[in-house]
Amino acid sequence: MNQLKNKKDGYDVLVVGGGPAGMMAAGRAAEAGARVLLVEKNDSLGKKLLITGGGRCNVTNAEFDARKLVDKLGDKGKFLFSSFSQFGVPETFDFFHLKNMPTKVEAEKRAFPVSNKAQSVWDTLVTYLQKNNVEVLSDTPVTGLVKKGSEIVGVQIGNKKILRAKKYILATGGKSRPETGSTGEGFLWLKELGHKVIEPDVALVPIETKDGWVKQAQGVSFSNVRVSVFQNNAQQFSKTGKILFTHFGLSGPLILNMSKDIGELIKYGEVKLSLDLFSDLDHLALDAHIRTIFETNQNKKLKNVFGLLVPPKMVPVILSLTSLDQEQYVNKISKESRLALGRIFKQLFCQVHKLLGTEKAIVTSGGLALEEIDFKTMQSKLYPNLYCVGDVLNFDRPSGGYSLQICWTTGYIAGDHASKK
Ligand SMILES: Cc1cc2nc3c(=O)[nH]c(=O)nc-3n(C[C@H](O)[C@H](O)[C@H](O)COP(=O)(O)OP(=O)(O)OC[C@H]3O[C@@H](n4cnc5c(N)ncnc54)[C@H](O)[C@@H]3O)c2cc1C
Repeated sequence: MNQLKNKKDGYDVLVVGGGPAGMMAAGRAAEAGARVLLVEKNDSLGKKLLITGGGRCNVTNAEFDARKLVDKLGDKGKFLFSSFSQFGVPETFDFFHLKNMPTKVEAEKRAFPVSNKAQSVWDTLVTYLQKNNVEVLSDTPVTGLVKKGSEIVGVQIGNKKILRAKKYILATGGKSRPETGSTGEGFLWLKELGHKVIEPDVALVPIETKDGWVKQAQGVSFSNVRVSVFQNNAQQFSKTGKILFTHFGLSGPLILNMSKDIGELIKYGEVKLSLDLFSDLDHLALDAHIRTIFETNQNKKLKNVFGLLVPPKMVPVILSLTSLDQEQYVNKISKESRLALGRIFKQLFCQVHKLLGTEKAIVTSGGLALEEIDFKTMQSKLYPNLYCVGDVLNFDRPSGGYSLQICWTTGYIAGDHASKK
């Protein structure tokens, strides 16, 4: 995969970033006749695409009225009028249907693959690239864009190597979920080129939960909790750090740091958190710890011993989640009950209601100032052989499939125009 076939003759179009926008752009440019190289830093394409919509991928929104579609995107939507008339929602449905990926439309006009799997969208795009002979250079982080006057003349790989083409499409994404590859380097390069880049809002906000027990624990903090985030019964990510229980839910440094990513997930469905209060002990070690405490206090009542395991305020909260009787003597507690208690300490579930204080469904994503792009072609107004697509652009994206629609629209248009001689 990493042998450059076209190196000698050169490439017409070089796409940086193999997310949905980059794949669409590369596929379309090649389909229209260009020799295309797609450079991706991960070992595989579209890592974020595979986690979209909780793994189901809300591929677009079945809003066929372009005016209403544009309205959904707020003030900045107007930039996309001409773009949607070239490749909008109907063209997106056609694109996937003609490639044997049927879709279904659910509440709020959200469209998903019939398979309920983001993998189907990924497969469709990868097949599109293969059929049109796009060369993919994976495992290759681009480190910068090289310019000469108002022209881009190459992309830098590592310290010395430069890859060249006639036109360049920047599809490096935004900054959410950096573990998928979207780490925001594209924004730095654009700034170096003299483009205006709007910084994303970083949502550092507490989280409101639905569960009563969380609120009863208000004021209690734990310094080493592992918080795992679940959607559609699948773990999405997890982190360890300090949390604080509050009268509305959860706060503390760890929760604040996780809030942006959790906020992104709630756009696409229910989110549950699992709290491991003893993250440094595995189940066996925790049971040994509980057993030792029980053995040294065997003639005491549970309510008087429990405080040796968790802060006093947490005692009634945890006990209410178990079938244990607080008046029971510790030496009467069965092994099964003790093991069940350990499981509760390591897996306290609660459900996210919303991010506190962000009544808007989304946090502004930031990105390249829209007035610096020609939306008929996706060309930079400063560097005519540079095209910018997808999350690189400073749109505010509500949930509902609109983000990916922006990727399909801008990706297709950039690929189409960049392929022209
Ligand atoms: C949890 C979650 C769920 C979502 N669900 C939905 C949904 O259901 N529907 C919807 O419409 N939107 C959804 N979104 C938003 C959607 O995923 C994004 O809008 C979309 O992925 C943006 O695509 P992109 O191609 O612009 O960027 P990205 O998907 O971020 O891809 C950018 C690519 O560029 C690569 N790259 C970055 N820097 C470099 C470099 N220096 N060198 C080489 N390669 C580089 C990255 O590795 C990555 O592969 C979701 C987002 C999240 C976080």
